[in-house]
Amino acid sequence: MSNNCIFCKIVAGEIPARLVYQDQHLVVIEDINPQAPYHYLLVPRKHIRTTLDLTTADNELIGHVFQIAGKIAHDMGFAEDGFRIVNNCNDAGGQTVWHIHFHLLGGRDLTWPPG
Ligand code: 5GP
Ligand code: ZN
Repeated sequence: MSNNCIFCKIVAGEIPARLVYQDQHLVVIEDINPQAPYHYLLVPRKHIRTTLDLTTADNELIGHVFQIAGKIAHDMGFAEDGFRIVNNCNDAGGQTVWHIHFHLLGGRDLTWPPG
C-alpha cells in the first residue's frame, strides 16, 4: 500500500468503486470516465508504479491480468466482436494514475492509431 495512491485505496476498500471482479492478485473496476460502452480497469493489488517497475517476479501476475481480461470480455459478451487492452506508461503515454493498471475497452469499433 502506497500512501496517497488512489488505486491502493480502492484495492483496500477505502474509496468506493464499481467492482466487477476480484481475486487474490487483482481487482477489476469500472472506469469512472468510460471511453467505450465497456471500460474496465484491471488493477493489481500490489502497488507497482509503472510498467517500467515490473520485475520477473511479476511475470505471472501480468499473464494473469491478460487471462482475466479475456474472461471478462467473454463473460460480458464482447469478446468475439473484439476489444483492446491498454497500458499507458509515463506522461507521454497518457498515464495519470501512478499504480499500474490495464484498460479493457470494448463494445464499439475502436479506431487505430489511438490518440
Ligand atoms: P491512465 O490515464 O493512468 O492510464 O488511467 C487512469 C484511469 O483511471 C482513467 O481512465 C480514469 O478515468 C480512471 N480513474 C481515475 N480516478 C478514478 C477513480 O477514483 N475511480 C475509478 N473507477 N476510475 C478512476
Ligand atoms: Zn497504489
